[in-house]
Amino acid sequence: MNSIKQIIQDILCYIKVRYNKVSGYENGLIILMYHSVTDLIDNKDDIGRTVPENLFDIQMNYLKKCGYNVISLKKGIEYILCKSSLPKKSIIITFDDGYEDNYLNAWPILKKYNYPATIFLISSYVDRPRNFDYLLEKGIHARSLDYNQIQEIQIDSDLVTFGFHTKSHVRLSGQDASALDDELSVGLSNLEKHGIKTDLFAYPYGGASTFNEIVIQKLEALKILAACTTITGINKPGDDVFRLKRMHIAWYDDIRNFRNKLVGCDKWIKKITNIKERLT
Ligand SMILES: [Zn+2]
Repeated sequence: MNSIKQIIQDILCYIKVRYNKVSGYENGLIILMYHSVTDLIDNKDDIGRTVPENLFDIQMNYLKKCGYNVISLKKGIEYILCKSSLPKKSIIITFDDGYEDNYLNAWPILKKYNYPATIFLISSYVDRPRNFDYLLEKGIHARSLDYNQIQEIQIDSDLVTFGFHTKSHVRLSGQDASALDDELSVGLSNLEKHGIKTDLFAYPYGGASTFNEIVIQKLEALKILAACTTITGINKPGDDVFRLKRMHIAWYDDIRNFRNKLVGCDKWIKKITNIKERLT
């Protein structure tokens, strides 16, 4: 039964690849969204926060094997702002929250493939590295990067860029003016005090309801160039750079799922396999 499902997936994927060539889908820019890269996955990770180290390596190798052109987020923004062109199959790698395992586990793999990436930091956790409070509530222990680790990454090369992910990881749309100022202006200047100057941002939680025009205006006033959401999709020239779409990658994205997401046939496959499951 499993192999029939796999054959259906492969056929659909092939059709989608052909369609992508006709429709220009290949000109769309994919921004991958990772969080934690660790083998310490527990059964509390129901939102897909983690990717095992080995799977991350396999996914990076897949990008290489399939001729993907991994570029920095900055280069991608230039493309979306219609200021430059990009080779087909260009792709961007991002990490949210600034987990210590990004330094311990993901960074060596990024270096192995020479892939640029952006890590979005929560300033209060980098100021005082500790377990993330909002994960501790669920009983999950995951530590933040510290400034020494960030500095080591920065000194080593410019492969990894750091972005900003607020001061304490709150939903920005519900904040009043002073809380918004604290989360954005104060948080950003805390990073700057430690030598991290950035104009890249990712909204915490990142769905369409977690930010609004007031938040975007505030980010623009702080000279932020672009902001990533967690809304699923690809980005095209002319799109709003304060509403960048991403592709969430998690522990359940084995290489077939990963391929399906990159090609854009994962939704078809979900629909079709659901129909099959309902029939059987
Ligand atoms: Zn986050």
